[in-house]
Amino acid sequence: MPQLELFPSTGSSKKSVAKKKPSKKGFVPETEAKAPALPPYNVRESARARQVSIKNSVVGEVEFVVPPQFDHAKLPEILERRRAWINKTRSRLLSDRAQTSEDWQIEKPETIYFRHRSDDIDERNTAAKEIESWSVAYQQTSGNKTLCVPGLNRHLPLSGNTDNLQTCQAVLRKWLAHKAHRELSPWLRQLGFELDLPCHRISVRGQKTRWASCSSHKDISLNFKLLFLPRPLVHYVLVHELCHTVHMNHSAKFWTLVGEKQPDYQWRRDELKTAWRYVPRWVEAK
Ligand SMILES: [Zn+2]
Repeated sequence: MPQLELFPSTGSSKKSVAKKKPSKKGFVPETEAKAPALPPYNVRESARARQVSIKNSVVGEVEFVVPPQFDHAKLPEILERRRAWINKTRSRLLSDRAQTSEDWQIEKPETIYFRHRSDDIDERNTAAKEIESWSVAYQQTSGNKTLCVPGLNRHLPLSGNTDNLQTCQAVLRKWLAHKAHRELSPWLRQLGFELDLPCHRISVRGQKTRWASCSSHKDISLNFKLLFLPRPLVHYVLVHELCHTVHMNHSAKFWTLVGEKQPDYQWRRDELKTAWRYVPRWVEAK
């Protein structure tokens, strides 16, 4: 089943690197000649992949997605050809990250800010209107289950093995997925109705490299990390995916439809390219 992906940053290349003709003999572009060695990378086989694609994550990981039965012996050549791009994208993502606010680096949050109801797109302004903040409390108890039960006044107590960082992060992610399902699914359903672009099933996941996707069956999968993005950007992602229920590609017709449904989509689309910065690091941790 073909799937269309909406990437959270420009750190992804879907270019048909495997099929590209080699550059002229003896000619090495200057930028590539000076490029440093490649960072460590992972290779993942995907049944859906038709060609090799390269993904840079915001924490500096590089991943190659290859089609089934791909000849891995071809990878070194592809890597070499794309080395300058990989390094450039990776260092941009890492330097952007270094410039983001300190709360982004926190591993065990005491406060969680959701911007999906706020129109303010300055991520440093935690006092912005409509930002929903939750206070998290950790209580180490002897039970073998770690739980979080949302209380009144946006209070989120965690109990159990809360000394364990990974456990806390996993429990919080689960809560995020629940919350996103409750809040984003009705929004998408309503928007589909208003725009006359109905979708089929809606699911919520914690995708690493995309904000959402739409299948050929008009099933839309949303990323729970959208809760951290300001409303105008979430709105754009939802419109974008709903338009894929008509056009399963990024053709001119697709963008015309997006423009009809959301005339000012361009600035949102630009803003979305660096929107991963809204997502706190603990959400991405393994
Ligand atoms: Zn798309």
